Amino acid sequence: MSIKKPRGTSDILPAEIPAWRFVEEVCRRQAAIYGFSEIRFPTFECTELFARGVGGTTDIVQKEMYTFTDKDERSMTLRPEGTACVCRSVVENGLYAGALPLKLFYLSNFFRYEKPQAGRTREFFQFGCECFGPSTPQADAEAILLGDSVIRGLGIRGCVLHLNSIGCADCRPAYRAALKEYFASHYDELCDTCRSRLETNPLRILDCKSPVCSAIADGAPRTTDHLCENCRAHYEELKSILAQSGVEYVEDPRCVRGLDYYTGTVFEFVHGGIGAQAALGGGGRYNGLIAELGGPELPAIGFALGLSRLIMAMEAEKAPLPASGEGSLYIAPLGGDAVSAATLLCQQLRTRGVRCETDITGRSAKAQLKYADKSGHTYVAVIGTDELAAGKCELKNLRTGEKTGTALDADSLAAAVK
Ligand code: AMP
Repeated sequence: MSIKKPRGTSDILPAEIPAWRFVEEVCRRQAAIYGFSEIRFPTFECTELFARGVGGTTDIVQKEMYTFTDKDERSMTLRPEGTACVCRSVVENGLYAGALPLKLFYLSNFFRYEKPQAGRTREFFQFGCECFGPSTPQADAEAILLGDSVIRGLGIRGCVLHLNSIGCADCRPAYRAALKEYFASHYDELCDTCRSRLETNPLRILDCKSPVCSAIADGAPRTTDHLCENCRAHYEELKSILAQSGVEYVEDPRCVRGLDYYTGTVFEFVHGGIGAQAALGGGGRYNGLIAELGGPELPAIGFALGLSRLIMAMEAEKAPLPASGEGSLYIAPLGGDAVSAATLLCQQLRTRGVRCETDITGRSAKAQLKYADKSGHTYVAVIGTDELAAGKCELKNLRTGEKTGTALDADSLAAAVK
């Protein structure tokens, strides 16, 4: 029996690569424009990092981690998300001692043992950004604007920003108590998971997908009615910066995000056209995490966008990929001396940076032309004894069918093709 890929993973095949490359390029470009530098971190980390950095009550830590014991009997986990990894690296490398704000981004793959469905896989890719230092609403707005600029840069228009504030260490306990009291009065109707969340993390009941819990959550107390003066002022200022910047948002009291580390601002970019897993990405403020991981008190805000969902949204909206500006050439030799001439020309064109191929199979001119077309070349040149004798050939543009004459040397061909 042939071996298949693990459930919930994907091969990204050559035909899909242009879309992935485009998404990655837009992420990198926008990150650079906003002053974020790239960071890379290990694919696996000590399990304790996620237990402490993501939170013991979260689905990720409780159910979804790929954890294994290595040969030294240490518990290791394939990274299920990036924020804890970046924070670990910031603390371990003392990056907080350099210039602040410290703005970092990553493009990495992550692993969660979830039930696969459209938009949800066990290995997935994220573009994530983290900004350390400022606790201002301006920093929150900058992170949101960066995420928004990536989504717009990809041509996605049908995405809505959901915004909320879940309060800080001062105001959250009272809100949590109010929430607990409200949900306790509906205890018998809640699903089993939410009954246990009532003790561990009642905020999570707000984003339960079960229709019954969801209907109960509609009537729950709102975080924004329980914010302390600081959190309220911060939230109001953020909303006014976003409005000024032309970013539309909806206030969503049920947007709480799944992770334990968030404080204050939380947000999600939600798309209506990609099915049940509708969040293109999300993030929020996590002012306590660096200290939790052994560093100084260092406020932070971050977000992550899922690359496969961005591509799904582009496909749903038929957002076009930019056409490649580079021309390329296939040289089809008609046997004899033309074969070695074509091999040499091909080599010379490649050293000039032109994408070029010639025949390496010994097949007929007809079969070669079919290959040239299928493999996406822009031009084809057929060369035989006549072309070699004349020192000239005809270049056919495979997109338009147009034919032009050119001298049969590498410089002339390179100029004609580019
Ligand atoms: P999270 O880290 O859960 O806040 O996820 C941020 C974004 O990453 C989501 O909005 C998705 O776009 C993407 N994402 C998270 N988990 C998965 C998954 N299992 N499969 C595909 N994309 C995911």
